[in-house]
Amino acid sequence: MTIKKKKKRKFIFIVGGVMSSVGKGVTSSSISSILKARGYKTTNVKCDMYINLDAGTIRPTEHGEVFVGEDGIESDQDLGNYERFTGNVMASENYITTGQVYNEVIQRERNLFYAGEDVEVVPDIPNEIIRRIKVAATKDDAEITVVEFGGTVGEYQVLLFLEAARMMKLKNPNDITFVLVSYLPVPAHIGEMKTKPTQHAARTLNSAGIQADFIIARGVHKIDTPRRERLATFCNIAPDHAISAPDVSSIYEVPLILEEEKMSTKLLKKLELKPRKNDMTKWRNLVKRINCCTKEVTIGIVGKYFGTGEFTLADSYISVIEAIKHGSWMNNIKPILKWVDSEEFEKHPEKLKNLKQYDGIIVPGGFGTRGIEGIIKTIQYVRENKIPYLGLCYGMQLACVEFARNVMKKTSAHTVEIDEETEYPIIIVNPSQKKNIKTQQYGATMRLGAYTAILKEGSTVQKIYGKTKISERHRHRYEYNNAYREEMEKKGLEVVGVNPESNLVEIIELKNHPFFIGTQFHPEFKSQPMQPHPLFCEFVKIIVKQKK
Ligand code: GLN
Repeated sequence: MTIKKKKKRKFIFIVGGVMSSVGKGVTSSSISSILKARGYKTTNVKCDMYINLDAGTIRPTEHGEVFVGEDGIESDQDLGNYERFTGNVMASENYITTGQVYNEVIQRERNLFYAGEDVEVVPDIPNEIIRRIKVAATKDDAEITVVEFGGTVGEYQVLLFLEAARMMKLKNPNDITFVLVSYLPVPAHIGEMKTKPTQHAARTLNSAGIQADFIIARGVHKIDTPRRERLATFCNIAPDHAISAPDVSSIYEVPLILEEEKMSTKLLKKLELKPRKNDMTKWRNLVKRINCCTKEVTIGIVGKYFGTGEFTLADSYISVIEAIKHGSWMNNIKPILKWVDSEEFEKHPEKLKNLKQYDGIIVPGGFGTRGIEGIIKTIQYVRENKIPYLGLCYGMQLACVEFARNVMKKTSAHTVEIDEETEYPIIIVNPSQKKNIKTQQYGATMRLGAYTAILKEGSTVQKIYGKTKISERHRHRYEYNNAYREEMEKKGLEVVGVNPESNLVEIIELKNHPFFIGTQFHPEFKSQPMQPHPLFCEFVKIIVKQKK
């Protein structure tokens, strides 16, 4: 009898030091992508420290965008970066939270899984973390799994995750490596890059029983030799394991930056894996193309999650922003994105004419009442003034409401999300959703993940996609009301994509307009730099044509 040898799987743990938001997600994605370019099968896992079971109930301004995976997981925005950098498809298994871990352990205890033993935080919680990480590696049949821990070392809530990683390393020392992504500040009054905070972070990691093998030195500049040596001496790593990662103009340069320092070769050596061919051609071509784009178009993003400053904005809509960039670069265009707060138009309708300065307008997804009348006014303006328009989810629903009000003359038309009693419910709630709302079952109960749509033969969207059967990702509770379809189509707003099983409307387009398309789904989640989404490509293409 031949015994099948168990597949050896390797794991790279990415932890943060000094402060968060310095690019751990992009580093994890880039590491996965450079190892993939070496011919290794990789996957990524994000561990979030929250008690939340998923990111679905977290405010975007607090946590960034809620990214939706193929199977409907509502996850941290980092999973979006993993997909964009690697082309790998992320699902529930690739996203782990403290809440999931405890939930599972408690459920098992109720099912007598622990056979009368008392259930302890250690080792039962780290063991469940390990089990989940391995499930993800197995699901994706990955030779190398890159596991990112949210937050920074030294935070109380990351301890059990560090403990899990330490236990894995103890068992299989050659299969695990640790990468500390740390920030080297340059205080203005000194003008010199400081390594001390990173030294403290490395020590904090030591106190959890973990030695960093690599340090990604994030900062405004490259690290010089003295600093490299200091990191080596005081953080106990090889000097060539201090990897310089200075700020770059595009995140898609990061894989190349890491490879300049031979990161993939060093990681493979550390993990005792054979080096395979290295092909970074497509990354080099991408960066070359990005840097060649000088011609600009200005796109306005009209929404309401604009309360807490520029920084938050970019995070709340990261997939939309990236998709616009991907589509623009494909057209050799550099997009200039402007944030437009829809509430402004409610207070000052005369400002609507300022929308003329934008070459195209996007209304992204959203929820609730605030800023909605301003969005509807915006859509009326772009429809009447023939400004290219792309409405994503809420942006599609509100386009239908606007059309009903101003073209079909049903002035009180609305979505029942805002006005339950409206005389003309253009957007309604699915019967299955009614119970969820009534019983406040809000977590993971929306229409989530990938659904098929059949596109209307000869429609603009069918030509754009170049096929009639598509699959796109969803995240919404409300739907187009088919009762108004006939009347709406007669007046020019056509349904051009429908789900074959449920007959739910998935895409609309307006006749006699250069570009006016609304999608019930979120095309932005599937756009990748190497494979931009066709809707975003065409949107920019039409904008460029209009501009001429
Ligand atoms: N609020 C709308 C709904 O739940 C749209 C959601 C969205 O834009 N993602 O249907």
